[in-house]
Amino acid sequence: MELTLAILKPSAVERGLIGNIISRIQDKGLIIVGMKMMQLDENILKQHYSHLVDKPFFPSIVRSMTATPVVVLCLKGVEAVRVFRDMTGVTNGRNAAPGTLRGDYCMSGQANIVHASDSPENAKIEIARFFSPAEVFDWMPADSAFYYGEDELKM
Ligand code: ADP
Repeated sequence: MELTLAILKPSAVERGLIGNIISRIQDKGLIIVGMKMMQLDENILKQHYSHLVDKPFFPSIVRSMTATPVVVLCLKGVEAVRVFRDMTGVTNGRNAAPGTLRGDYCMSGQANIVHASDSPENAKIEIARFFSPAEVFDWMPADSAFYYGEDELKM
């Protein structure tokens, strides 16, 4: 099974969308193995968005991502990184397909409600950035045979 990181951004927290987004994650069958609320700061955002630090809009990203606490989630599933990235949709909510989280819940390229890791390698780095090992739980639902077939459960 693969792990991925989700961040419910201030645009989700402020707009009361936490419950809807978590419901969509659970409805899909991704397993929540870590979850907490935390206040981000410029230091962690410089690491998390290191590919954007030199962009002129980076200060605006920092203001947007520190406006309220966020909810960080560690999600588990077969191909969890790709599956949750597909559920999230493209960066700009105005272009994101209907049925995706960004496509259904936002109108912005910046206040786009959710972060999703973009590769298994980055997911490992991001999970370690936001969670201590003790905060990520090694559990599966008792009825996991109804989430996956036998061969998939070994993946
Ligand atoms: P994604 O979140 O889809 O993986 P990026 O890694 O390119 O996209 O960008 C990270 C986040 O930075 C975006 O989700 C968005 O909140 C913000 N962002 C990206 N591009 C812009 C931009 N041109 N102006 C303002 N904010 C941006």
